[in-house]
Amino acid sequence: SDIETDVLVIGGGGAGLVSAITAAENGAKVVLVEKMPMVGGNTMISATGFTASDTALHEEAGVPFTVEDHINRTMDMGKDIPDEELVRLLAEESNAVYEWLTSLGLSYKLNEDEPWWIIPTEGHYGAQLVAAFQNEAAKHSDLEIRLNNKATELVVEDGNVVGAKVEDKDGNVYTIKANAVVLATGGFGNAPDLIGEYNPKFAGAHNVMSTAGPTGDGFRMATAVGAATRDMEYHQMRPLATPGYWIRESVISQEGLGGVLVNKDGERFANETLRPLDLVPEVLAQKDSVAYVIFDADVYATNNGKAAVERGGMIEADTIEELAEKLGLDAEVVAATVAAYNEGQDEFDRETMGKVTTAPFYGVEVAPSSHYTMGGLVFNRNAEILDEAGNPILGLYGAGEILGGLYGPGRLAGNNTLDDVVFGKIAGKNAANLK
Ligand code: ADP
Repeated sequence: SDIETDVLVIGGGGAGLVSAITAAENGAKVVLVEKMPMVGGNTMISATGFTASDTALHEEAGVPFTVEDHINRTMDMGKDIPDEELVRLLAEESNAVYEWLTSLGLSYKLNEDEPWWIIPTEGHYGAQLVAAFQNEAAKHSDLEIRLNNKATELVVEDGNVVGAKVEDKDGNVYTIKANAVVLATGGFGNAPDLIGEYNPKFAGAHNVMSTAGPTGDGFRMATAVGAATRDMEYHQMRPLATPGYWIRESVISQEGLGGVLVNKDGERFANETLRPLDLVPEVLAQKDSVAYVIFDADVYATNNGKAAVERGGMIEADTIEELAEKLGLDAEVVAATVAAYNEGQDEFDRETMGKVTTAPFYGVEVAPSSHYTMGGLVFNRNAEILDEAGNPILGLYGAGEILGGLYGPGRLAGNNTLDDVVFGKIAGKNAANLK
């Protein structure tokens, strides 16, 4: 049945959990609805760390990465398309995020080669992060998490968002009335229709890299009440995804090393050294929109090759024929394809051909998959969601991957975890204080 609360948070990934915690810290009664049977979202599968500038870790290591460096690098990666005011806020808040996460018991070190990266001292990052947020949420008796509850529609009265319709796991629909709503439903990595709508050349992509929950519900709900979107055409994809891991493209493209991509017929179909985003439509055009990465022991000797084998579930074989059979491909055709490649025969203008000749050989089926939703809802420094005219939609806040304007076409890896926390905190605080 219908309920009332101060703040309703929709989505229980990193951004939603931080929003809910912060709203509760600011004295609000909070309900968080999560449509899956568990919290975590794609934050759970985040593998590496987050980006921060001017932290104690930089100071200790004597390796500077300043707030200005952080802003410049983010703007450069995004080809100056990101909103610089919001990027500045992100960078300026990053040390506070580092300190807060540390205070929750997370332990970090600096990646000194790439000093924007703050990485966990050990273990799987996403799982640690979500567990830390869950612990923190559990400290607040006024914060209720409702799993298996899916928001379906925002409720608007007199131009204000005043709650949402929610469906529980038995299909009962009820209303949660609230002073303010925080949308934190993540991206749309698991919504092939939305990916294809905004990026026709990626239509038909598989969803092997997303968890089940991020299906774009928040975009649909917010745009239905007039929210503006931006940068939707920059959806980030990876051509060589396997369940749980995206194989780094260098394993088939590195100069002097031998790696090839074949289709279900066992034939090459593209220049493997194309930019990853250009390789995506080439793979999507093949039968079942899949391809097979094949490389040899020389590639395995590289970091990315080893990681592809260990984390990408690659199969090993002593001969190309045996590998092809294990992959369910025609052994003769694949052997002929690889032999032709090794002789330098190429119809795809590949300039840097290596050779696939050193046993053992490795292979796996891959598919293009969404990696990150770069575009999203237009918002301001108060984490308010804006309409087409640039005015805040009263009562509606957003945090996390649903937001657009921080990345443009290129994302400094790690900024996304940072933005979950920075805008989660801002959204949670402002939602709690909206009277
Ligand atoms: P972010 O990093 O922005 O927090 P995540 O992908 O980690 O994004 O989390 C988004 C969460 O929102 C997921 O757990 C997903 O299941 C949840 N979610 C998506 N749509 C809805 C919805 N309609 N109602 C409730 N939860 C939702």
